[in-house]
Formats: sequence, C-alpha cells, structure tokens
Amino acid sequence: MQKELEKVYDPKQVEDRIYDFWMKGNYFHAEPGTGKKPFTIVIPPPNITGQLHMGHALDNTLQDILIRYKRMQGYEALWLPGTDHASIATEAKIVAALAEEGKTKKQIGREEFLRRAWEWRRTYGGRIINQLKKLGSSCDWARERFTLDEGCSRAVREVFCRLYEKGLIYRGERMINWCPNCKTSLSDAEVEYQEKAGSFWHIRYPLADGSGDVVIATTRPETMLGDTGLAINPGDEERAHLVGQTCILPLVGREIPIVADDYVELGFGTGVVKMTPAHDPNDYEVGLRHGLEIINIFNEDGSVNENGGKYAGMDRFACRKAVVKDLEEQGYLVRIEDYTHNVGCCQRCGTVVEPRLSTQWFVDMKPLAVPAVKAVREGETRFIPERFDQTYFHFMENIRDWCISRQLWWCHEIPAWYCDDCGELIVSRETPKACPKCGSSRLTHDPDTLDTWFSSALWPFSTLGWPDKTPELDYFFPTDVLVTGYDIIFFWVARMIFSSIEQMGEVPFSDVLIHGLVRDALGRKMSKSLGNGIDPLEVIDNYGADALRLTLAMGTSPGNDMRFSDEKVRSCRNFCNKIWNASRFIRMNLGEEVVETGLPETLTDADKWLLTRFNDLVREVTDNIDKYELGVAVQKLYDFIWDIFCDWYIEIAKPRLTAGGAEAAGVRRVLVFVLTRTLALLHPFMPFVTEEIWQALPHEGEALIVAPWPVYDPAHVYPQEAAAFERVMDAIRAIRNARTNAQIPPSRKATVYVAGDLAQEFAAAEPFFQRLAFATAVVPKPADFTMERAMNIVTDAVRIFVPMDELIDRDKELARLQKEKASCERDIASVNQKLANQNFVTRAPAQVIENERQKLRRATELLAKIEESLAALG
Ligand SMILES: [Zn+2]
Ligand SMILES: [Zn+2]
Repeated sequence: MQKELEKVYDPKQVEDRIYDFWMKGNYFHAEPGTGKKPFTIVIPPPNITGQLHMGHALDNTLQDILIRYKRMQGYEALWLPGTDHASIATEAKIVAALAEEGKTKKQIGREEFLRRAWEWRRTYGGRIINQLKKLGSSCDWARERFTLDEGCSRAVREVFCRLYEKGLIYRGERMINWCPNCKTSLSDAEVEYQEKAGSFWHIRYPLADGSGDVVIATTRPETMLGDTGLAINPGDEERAHLVGQTCILPLVGREIPIVADDYVELGFGTGVVKMTPAHDPNDYEVGLRHGLEIINIFNEDGSVNENGGKYAGMDRFACRKAVVKDLEEQGYLVRIEDYTHNVGCCQRCGTVVEPRLSTQWFVDMKPLAVPAVKAVREGETRFIPERFDQTYFHFMENIRDWCISRQLWWCHEIPAWYCDDCGELIVSRETPKACPKCGSSRLTHDPDTLDTWFSSALWPFSTLGWPDKTPELDYFFPTDVLVTGYDIIFFWVARMIFSSIEQMGEVPFSDVLIHGLVRDALGRKMSKSLGNGIDPLEVIDNYGADALRLTLAMGTSPGNDMRFSDEKVRSCRNFCNKIWNASRFIRMNLGEEVVETGLPETLTDADKWLLTRFNDLVREVTDNIDKYELGVAVQKLYDFIWDIFCDWYIEIAKPRLTAGGAEAAGVRRVLVFVLTRTLALLHPFMPFVTEEIWQALPHEGEALIVAPWPVYDPAHVYPQEAAAFERVMDAIRAIRNARTNAQIPPSRKATVYVAGDLAQEFAAAEPFFQRLAFATAVVPKPADFTMERAMNIVTDAVRIFVPMDELIDRDKELARLQKEKASCERDIASVNQKLANQNFVTRAPAQVIENERQKLRRATELLAKIEESLAALG
C-alpha cells in the first residue's frame, strides 16, 4: 500500500523529484501516428539572453495548463520548446564582453566573433530552459529547437529564396530607421515612440534675389545642413509667388529651390517647410518628385560627416546646439517655441532613431498581408479576446515593406552573393561556386544578416521539420493555440500568420490566446528602474512552483493585466497546505487497508450532495478551460476544495470514520473517489502537489499526469438530495453566524427548534447540527411555532429558535450588558460634550474632529446592539 504523506508539505523536497519522475516516464513526449488526435502548442521561444521573468512565468504556466489538460483528455499533446538566438540582444552581450577586454567587433573579425557568440550560447543558452523546468513546464524536451540551428537555417534560406524568386523580396535604396548606437537598420516595429520635450526653432531663410525672406519651423535644426529645398502647398495663394524662386541656406550658403507640393499642409505652421531628403522619409518622397538633391550629413554613429562643413565630426545633438548658437549670432533665429512630440527610439537601446537612406533588403508586404487579413476576418485564426484582432488588422492594413536586412553578425546570413567582376546578384539556396553570368569565381557574400523575426516567423513549421515533409509536420501542423502577450502581436503573431499562409497554404494556429502583463501589487509595470520586479525563481524557492502557478492562474483573464503580490502567493501557498493537510488526514484514515477505488453501493445524502457538486464542478471547469477562462476555472476548484470538500464534507465525514465498520468503509471510498478526481482537475494548475498526493492514495494508472480527465457523470447527480442537504447547510451556517455575532462560545451547546413544513427533514440531520452547529438536539415544530426569549433565525426553508437561557446565564449576561451599556453611554456623553465645545471645534485639526465623530458613530452603533441584546433577554 501507498506511503504516508509527510507531516508538512515541502515543495523543495518534492518538486525536483516529481519532475524527474515525469522525465523518466517520458510523459512529455509526443509522437505522430499514435492514433490519438494531436494537440499542439509551439512555445514562444525565449531569448537565450533571457532570464525567467514574471511575463514568461505567466505565459508558460498558461501553456502548461492547456497542454496538461489536453494530455489528460487523451490527446497526443505536443508542447514544442526552443529558444531564440535574439540577434541584437546577444550581439550586444558579446560586444560588451569584448569592450571589457578593450577589443571591438571589427578588431576580432566576423569568424572569431561568431565563435564567441556560439560559446556564449553554449554557456548561458540553457539557463532559461532550466528555469522553465523549475516552473513545471511539460515540454517535449527531446524536440527542443533553436532559431539558429541547422533546420531553422535551412527553412530561412528556403523562404528567402522562394520569396525572392516570386519577386516578393527585393534589394533597394530606401529611407529606413537607423540606430546610431546599435549601428543597424531597424524595422518599423522595432521603433518605439516616446514623448519628449523639444522645441520648434523658427529660422529665417533669405531669398536669393534679396527681396525678403521666408521663415520655416523645425524640431531638428541641425538637419538644415542637409537641406536641398523648401516647399509650400500648391493652393497657397499668399505664397504662390515664391514657387520657382531660390533661397540662400543660412550657415551653408547653398542656393536651394522653392517648390510646391501637396505634402505641405495648407495653413500649417509658417506655411513653408524645409526639405532634407536624406534624413526624413516624407522629404525624401517630395525630393524624388521634384528632383531635389540628396545630401547625407550623418555618419553611421550619428555624428556629422564631411558634408556638414565646420560641424563635421560633431555628435548630432552637439551639432544641434552649435547650429542654433550660430543661427542666433548671425541673426537667422526668429524665435523658439516649446513643443512636446513623439520621438522614435530604438526598441533595444533607447537611442533616438535616425531616418537614413540606405540600401537594404525588403519584403514586399502588400501581397502577403492581403490573405493574412482575410484569414483572420474569416475566422481561420481567432484572437482571444476578440478585440485584439483590431490590433492585428490595424497593423496589417497599414503595413509598409518590411526591412529585413541588419548590419549585425549574430544571425542568419542573407543567401545573396555579388560577382566581383560583372556585378551580378546571385540569390541561392546553396553557396554558389561561380557567377552564372560571367563564370567568375570571385564572389562576395552579402555581409548583412536577417531580422531576428524573419526566423521566428517560420517557427510553427520550421520546428516540425519543414522544408522536409516530415511525419511530425503532417501530424502536428497546423498547431492549435498560440499563447502570447499583446505586445508582440505585430512583431511575431502577424508574421507567423502571413509566412505560414504563404509557405504552408494555411494558418499556423487556430487560436491565439492573448494575456496581459503581470504588474506589481500597486498596478505598476515591473521595471528595473523602479526596482519593483519580482523574480519568479525566488518565489518558487520560497513558496514552491505550485503556489506561483496558482497565483498567476487565478489572476489571469484573457487580454487583461494582473497584479502580483506576496500576499497573494502566500494565500496560494496556504491553499497548497490546506489540500495537503486534508489529504494527509484522509490518507491516515485509510490505514493499511486496501481501499477500492470505486464508489460504495450505499450513499448517504451528504455523499449524494458531494457527488452532485463534484459533477457540477467537472462540467464547469471543463467548460471554462475550453473557453480559455483559466482564472475562472481554478477559482471554482479552489472554492470547491476549500469550502465544500475540506470545510464541510471532511467535517461531516469525521463521525462516520470514527464509527468504523461499513460506515467508515463507505465514507473512505467516497473521500478517495472525490479527492483523487479533484486532484486530477487541479493537476494542470498545480502539477507537483497533486501528483505527490495522488501517488500516495489508492489509484488506477501509473501517474496523475497521464490519468484520464474526469468526465461529468449524470448517474451521480442527485438534485433532490443535494437541495435538501444544502437547506441543512444553510441553517447550520446561519446558526453559526448568529452565535458568532452574539459572541457565544462553542462550549455553550443548546437545543435547536426547527419550525416549518420541512422540520422533519432537519430533525433527520440532527448529527450534522450536533457536530457543526453546537446543537444538543434538533426538535421539529409545526410551521406556526414561536418562542419568546430566543435567538430567532430565518432561512429560505425554515424558522429556527435557540433558547437564550441555554446560550447564556441570564442574570450574569444582564449584569454584563448593563455595565457595557453604562460605559457606552458615558463615552457618548463625553464625545458630545467635546463636540459641543465651540473652542475645540474651531481650533482642533480637522482629522482630530473627524476621529471624535467616528468615535461617536461607533459608540452609538454599539449602544443600539446592546439594547437589542437586552431586549432579547426580555
Ligand atoms: Zn539601438
Ligand atoms: Zn559575374
């Protein structure tokens, strides 16, 4: 027979051992061709630079709940794990480590740099995987993938070549976002807008013919060094005469034309806009239309280049100060206006992004976006909650071409080569040996790499073996649900959808479950600068993984942020202990006897009530999980276990257990039946403690993780008996409340008179009243029965009387109440006197007066209660 349960539940003693047990049992592994229905989740691959934070903990707890649930329901449940190479983030780590040695990327060269990056990955890349294991994640670790592994690299090359061959990938000079710190291009999605205080500098540009001047306003005066024109609106009658004239650019002396273009809003600002085609995407377009010169004034690091004349070599912000100073000194600065505006910053490092004209690789997005929007509109993929499809549509319907090349090293190389002799561009799956045009073998590999998200966009199918036709791909794809935060809908979710439709001909998943952020107890975002982050590993260390998972699961509702506090974790840890103690009590009462796992032949009303409530629970929890209402599901489990099972049923069971014989044998079987199945329902949420307890109880099968999910059993639903028992419970609860309010100690037992049509039913439940409502006896009375000097309780079903004389010693109680009444009246008089004192009321601080008023209110309420009690004593 099974072992005893330890006196106290210690997660540290249990969790690692249970995790090993699951690993040895190979329970996380999924295989195609088992005849079962597949259920698949691919993990959002955490960055190898990452450490498990609360966001991961929530995201992965939700995935683990779903995968364990489906596994127990009999699906071939695959949770496919892996990590992301995190191009910029990892590259930054290596660059920083090099800097400590006084070296740079350029000095050590590409090959050595990559060698170091792979070494870094070997050393630290597995860290987050181990942390996911601590959390209890039941991933199929045998299938672990890495976005830069050989298979993923092959998938990336294949997709790149296919898109290029279809004309959907092109190389061209475009205005892109450039991070002067990371020294790479960024996609639009990698630019974050921050509100910053700035200024509008109004600057005078003299007309070349000396007939006057025009005034422009700019937030970036330093860019004037690259101005090659001015523009007005074509409908601007007041300024129409300026078109065709030229201005002399202050500080530089260049003559620049004035053109008319619709881009300039009529009546906005000064009506004249400066044009810097090399450093502003809109000016670039205007410049193309009017043949304006393009003068780049910045280096890659954001400093001014040789085109900046005397400012060359200055950082862009130092240059701004110098330009403004010179403009002022030379009389060109008209005025400065404060202005708050949104400035694009690098998502990775926060540096202000510089629009820059550069030759890059792009994906032509329109042809890919159209079917991806259609698929979601037609419900092939649905967002939960639904409102997030708006975020998706907004992004996809306004999408610009995706800049996919990066000037980084730690990433997928672009499969493109240039012929040194004839300049031919070769895009190829295999490294080419010779130029197909001129036969030259002198080929140069494109030095750029791909955006990190290019490989993660293929994750749902590259991880299953694509571009090969594998049994896994055939069986597990498309996947079922993607669980992720709302912050990466466009970075990742959208890109997986269009990539999958393009390459696989279908959507990658049917459901996208969006969760919110985990905030601190005050509702603030957890951040390094606030120092309010909570480390999930520390929580696991202090309270156990189950307590952490329960806290996260209880707080979650699709799409909404949640608050996390130590207090909540402690109460979840207490719940864990509550289950443990209740189970331990049951286990002890089984002794060495073999308990059969089915239900007994004869069931009492209390048993029938419990089984009815249990079946309701099965139905509701299943239904809630199916609808992704995981927080609601686990709350119902919590209430059932704490209230119905522990506080009521086990209490009711105690006398039967003590009675021994058939009585005890019957109740044991009910206890084991309901407990083991309730543990099954709770298992996806709290896998460790449930498995540990289940193993110590009589059970069928080898492990709870693969035990069948309980199903609603109409044969064990007893509405009538359950309703009758609930009526008794209502009465017991009411008596207990009334006694507590009247401060009657449990030792004071009393007769309970029940009046009403159902009085006989209550009399039959006498043992429960004796045990739970401190009753000596239950006496049934007709409906019109009444009683003086009694505690009078009314429930939906009956009226109850408990004689006061039995509850209290009347004379003693009278004396006590009289004394309390007198003291209360004294208090009231004293406060009244104070408040009547004009001196006090005018001089005392408002808070002191308010305190007195509160005192008065409380004393008055107390007096009313005392008088009520006195009246009840008669
Ligand atoms: Zn940056
Ligand atoms: Zn050639």
